[in-house]
Amino acid sequence: MINKISIKAELENLSLQKAKYFTLPFYFDGKALENKEDKKEARWGMTLLKAGSMRFRWNEKNDERKKLLTKILNEQKKPVCSGNCSSSEGKCDCKLKVLPVELIHSKIVVEAKKEEDTKNLQADGIITQNPLLVPTVTVADCVPIFLYDRKKKAIGAFHSGWKGTGIAGEGVKKFAELYSSEPEDISAVIGAHIGSCCYFVDKERADYFTKNFGEDCISKAGEQKDGNETEVASALSYRLSLTEANLFVLKKAGIKEENILVAEDCTCCSKFLNGENIFGSFRRQAAFLPPEIDAEARSRSMTVQAAFVMMNV
Ligand SMILES: [Zn+2]
Repeated sequence: MINKISIKAELENLSLQKAKYFTLPFYFDGKALENKEDKKEARWGMTLLKAGSMRFRWNEKNDERKKLLTKILNEQKKPVCSGNCSSSEGKCDCKLKVLPVELIHSKIVVEAKKEEDTKNLQADGIITQNPLLVPTVTVADCVPIFLYDRKKKAIGAFHSGWKGTGIAGEGVKKFAELYSSEPEDISAVIGAHIGSCCYFVDKERADYFTKNFGEDCISKAGEQKDGNETEVASALSYRLSLTEANLFVLKKAGIKEENILVAEDCTCCSKFLNGENIFGSFRRQAAFLPPEIDAEARSRSMTVQAAFVMMNV
């Protein structure tokens, strides 16, 4: 059975409605992999609407992002020096480092052994076995996916937009190729993204998804049972569940259901009890701006979240 959580409930239970980010455990065999003194487990996390935009481009500065990500990494337990760290001045340089790529809605996954390995690269997935590196992508309605192989100490973060659906399978493949991972040892997380409650697509895209990712990811708009059907433009008469599409991908890649965690929150409509939005969302913040607003301005008007995975916590 697939493990499910509500990030909203987790944050409200801990009175963290003002938090700028959270981290949560992976699941294995139906249980959360909590950290213990003698056994370190990877954690995955996301920044939230309150953090501001974590937008990343190689040729841009984003001080807010730099400040917050540095703070997040500093708040983790200091990694233990392996004794052979590669600082040129002979000083220990063992600290966690953000490992980004510039996203392009592809299915390209890159591997890094050191921080410089992703420099200036464009891709949508990052994997590593270096415990000091923190693979980090950004999302705003697209799906953040995380992989963790406890046996091989490998982690990966993936940006899976509709075009990139399938990249999680590429990630599993690369784990096997580069780290000799067995799919049944891998834990996977499908992080918060736009839910089928808010995601309407046309027939062409619906057909594409049914054909490639199974029938469960598409439903006809208007068939919702709770009677809260949102009015939709007639061309967009199908609902797309990126959760179901990615479950299809992960299961096909050999990941076991009991090792998968799904965050059930919708980035577009999930709100705290006080009515505040929890996540940034392309659809809510940018999709309905007037047509004269170009793609670049549109993309700047939404609050993209950083989505990251780390070993040393
Ligand atoms: Zn929604």
